[in-house]
Amino acid sequence: MVAGAVRGAYRRDRRRLVELLRAGGIEDLAVLHAFDAVPRHLFVPEAVTHRAYEDVALPIGRDQTISRPAVHALHLSLAGLRGGENVLEVGTGSGYQTALLATLGARVFSIERIEALSALARARLTALGLGEVRLRVGDGSAGWPEEAPFDVILVGAAAPAVPEALREQMAPGGRMVVPVHTPSGQRLVLVRHVEEGWSQEIVDEARFVPLIGEGRP
Ligand code: SAM
Repeated sequence: MVAGAVRGAYRRDRRRLVELLRAGGIEDLAVLHAFDAVPRHLFVPEAVTHRAYEDVALPIGRDQTISRPAVHALHLSLAGLRGGENVLEVGTGSGYQTALLATLGARVFSIERIEALSALARARLTALGLGEVRLRVGDGSAGWPEEAPFDVILVGAAAPAVPEALREQMAPGGRMVVPVHTPSGQRLVLVRHVEEGWSQEIVDEARFVPLIGEGRP
């Protein structure tokens, strides 16, 4: 639960952002509520705080970005969380989506390859009372086998193909949202673990930083 005092700041801007997301087609009320509850301005550097509630990606240091709110909203809607799910996030980045996931009631495991970003995310999440999320520094393309299987896997960087190790760590009935490079550009892929194996569906175009890792698809 995000502490009351920080929720007060930028409240109107947050409301405007929620309306923007709703107008853009996001219908999941739990997702919209999470955007209303989590203070995005605390997840970006001070120099860009004034842009925190615009629907734009912003720099977070180390050549990385926090994704557009509309992109996070789409990924979270595709995840279809109702609370209590085991969720793996690859690419903690600023920790903002991690906070949204925790607010949605997920049990969150998040991996980031850049230690400084993970440490900053840890401090922000703890300050917001979301310290129960589990963060790890490392190559997320290998997943987190000790905590598998996962009901939902969200990948925040573009992979050459659906990473095999992550697919293997999906729970039956589970979903993975992953941007993948294709000859015609990046595509957002929704993978489902169905009875007969896995199904794959392209749901949108995508524009992400590359997934950098050893894990081969
Ligand atoms: N959702 C994040 C947020 O709310 O700030 C933004 C994620 S950012 C677009 C992608 C992140 O993935 C970067 O922080 C990058 O360092 C990380 N990344 C890239 N390859 C990775 C890998 N193999 N394992 C873990 N993290 C990785």
